[in-house]
Amino acid sequence: MPRNDTVPPVNILVVNAGSSSLKFMMFCMTKEQMLAKGIVERIGLKEPNLVYQRFDGQELREQVDVHNHDDALKVVCEKLVDRKYGVLDRLTEVEAIGHRVVHGGEKFHDSTLITDEVKQSISDCASLAPLHNPPNLGGIEACERVFPGVPNIAVFDTAFHHSMPPASYLYAIPYEYYEKYGVRKYGFHGTSHKFVAQATAKFLGKPLSDLKLITCHLGNGASIAAVERGKSIDTSMGMTPLNGLVMGTRCGDIDPAVVLYLVRQGMKADDIDKLLNKKSGLLGVAGIGSSDMRDIITAAEHGNDQAKRALWMFVHRLVSYIGSYHTILGGANAVVFTGGIGENSAYIRARVIAKLACIGCYLDDAVNHEVVARPAIVSTKESTLLAVVMPTNEELMIARETLRVLKGSPKATDTIYE
Ligand code: ADP
Repeated sequence: MPRNDTVPPVNILVVNAGSSSLKFMMFCMTKEQMLAKGIVERIGLKEPNLVYQRFDGQELREQVDVHNHDDALKVVCEKLVDRKYGVLDRLTEVEAIGHRVVHGGEKFHDSTLITDEVKQSISDCASLAPLHNPPNLGGIEACERVFPGVPNIAVFDTAFHHSMPPASYLYAIPYEYYEKYGVRKYGFHGTSHKFVAQATAKFLGKPLSDLKLITCHLGNGASIAAVERGKSIDTSMGMTPLNGLVMGTRCGDIDPAVVLYLVRQGMKADDIDKLLNKKSGLLGVAGIGSSDMRDIITAAEHGNDQAKRALWMFVHRLVSYIGSYHTILGGANAVVFTGGIGENSAYIRARVIAKLACIGCYLDDAVNHEVVARPAIVSTKESTLLAVVMPTNEELMIARETLRVLKGSPKATDTIYE
């Protein structure tokens, strides 16, 4: 059905465009049902391929001939209306498109309808996220061409952290560098932190406005946020997603003088960038040729000392942030684990929670062991600080935001979605 402005959209396509990939998820928002999802990978490279999954588990993998995001989107469109694998009768049923945009700088504190001015601002933020914002914009423009007249909404990874106070977001360098160059902490993974904060409130049966939460998004990229009454007041990633926790291939916190030292040893900026972003973290420390936490755990269990060190660094850094955010929040109700590691790894959760007894959080070992990717409390009844596992769903959050913007609803920090 063509879009009618008085009726909120029902079918929302969520797009996450990277430099050589395009991820998508198609939702019917009447019951927040995922209809189909997938990814086109290796766009513009050798042997691009499509993975397409329908809500009923039917899956399709095939090589595709795509050279750019427009081609990739057209391939996705063909599948969405395919006789056998499709979930829509016709493409005009796509009523709105929500886009993941990594960096919204200082300008965007909320999701927004995309206009030419918004696109210019996303482009202006490209210097802060050179690997992400340009392809995000490419995905938006491809959608404008392939779905003319359909509204596009930008949902920013940085927006949720806009509520951080200056004490959290400023770096202790002369203020003019903030004013002149925008050098400050922005924070990322905001869509995930927001989703799990809301989902945890619903799961605990409490209004978000009554809760102080420490949300730990532990995936290949990892970050933690202090969420007070639904608002982020601090987070571990900084001006870029390199700061904070030990990640799959990123170093996280490091003395900035290390960079200067390496420059003086003759290393070039691009090489240091690659070293800290792509060769560090679990990959660099464990030295087993993998950044995958499952491989690191297996190697550690087989007695590999470097893998053990990588694990302890990961846990140590996370625990030190949890302690810090517990203090900043003046005590918290729950530590929330999400992302591939947080949702699936009882091993990591157990090691982190074992360190939290001093702040009232005690592991329920039996429950923790059997929880995989489902909402659960994995701390004992005696705990004053709960440990919660909460699967994230960034795509659903983007679809919800798209719907909210199109309905014209105000920014809600305390919405409990049913
Ligand atoms: P991304 O940041 O790419 O979205 P994910 O959130 O999917 O990443 O998380 C990927 C990480 O989750 C990988 O390090 C992977 O090893 C880890 N992971 C997934 N399942 C498990 C598990 N059962 N135990 C430990 N780690 C796991």
